[in-house]
Amino acid sequence: MADAICMGELLIDFVPVTTGTDLLTATAFQKAPGGAPANVAVGLSRLGSRSALMGRASEDGFGRFLIKTLEDSGVDTSLMRRSRRTRTPLAFVSLAADAEREFLFYGDPSAGFCPEDVDFDAISKAKLVHFGSIGLITDDSRVATLQAVDAARGAGLHVSFDANLRLDLWPTPDSAREAIREGIDRATIVKLSDDEMDFLTGSKDPVAGARSLLHTGLTLMVVTHGRYGCTFVTRDTDGKVPSFTVDPVDTTGAGDAFMAGLLTGLLEHPNAPLTSELLHDLCRFANAAGALATTQRGGIPGLPNRAGVMALMSEEAER
Ligand code: ATP
Repeated sequence: MADAICMGELLIDFVPVTTGTDLLTATAFQKAPGGAPANVAVGLSRLGSRSALMGRASEDGFGRFLIKTLEDSGVDTSLMRRSRRTRTPLAFVSLAADAEREFLFYGDPSAGFCPEDVDFDAISKAKLVHFGSIGLITDDSRVATLQAVDAARGAGLHVSFDANLRLDLWPTPDSAREAIREGIDRATIVKLSDDEMDFLTGSKDPVAGARSLLHTGLTLMVVTHGRYGCTFVTRDTDGKVPSFTVDPVDTTGAGDAFMAGLLTGLLEHPNAPLTSELLHDLCRFANAAGALATTQRGGIPGLPNRAGVMALMSEEAER
């Protein structure tokens, strides 16, 4: 039985084999399993949490590869439904050294997931449900995701939300903004990057931005700053936690590894008050997971295990 149920897309990332190339210059791409909720499920499992993915996998070769990858990583796939109607979605991801990462999607990553796919019994037995905005794009998936999230809130679970903004997938920026706000309004834990905070609130100050989004049920917001680490914000406290120095080769999945680290920490401290001290520790662990994810190419392949995270943290403590 899973403690953490991640909901949403499962897809193939095609990543250029040469770092520093963009979609214009890349000549060859490597197949990598991906989809943010799937990455978080694998990240959680590698860090020692019992996780499951709830969603749709296509009945094609790529879909079978993705399910096998999840299972090989210890993720429970019994909540996945198989679909013959849709093909596995693809995302070509540019890794240009200087520029923003660029995504080119084929197929609809949220297609197929519908209310009949939600396993309410599994949710009632879990401790946490995690979701992102891509599951809110198509109507059926949006209804299913929000029903699952409402059930989780009703059962007193943590509900975590990572905006994971991919503007290309939305008809308009405003529709993305509205759906992300809907996700935040239903969550108890939220992670946003600096860019997403700016997009949503117009604020470049993570604390002010987060405070403008906090609501009664939202107990923790974390804003990530890439190599500079993260800032946590609650109603009572806030603090900035620097990341670790690593040699990054590919930042794909850093945010998902970070999320998995943060959620693992929260699951391991179920009833602890979110003091500044505890949040520093949880964010440090999450930063280490995020930093390590950048040191290998690809999303899922780069997600660290617990031993790796502990080693990075103790290396730095010894310096
Ligand atoms: P993603 O690339 O997965 O969409 P994101 O934009 O959600 O990521 P980032 O802020 O880029 O999130 O990174 C998440 C966390 O990973 C950071 O808060 C930090 O802890 C760690 N991290 C990312 N890049 C680096 C880096 N170059 N060096 C050290 N740590 C990093």
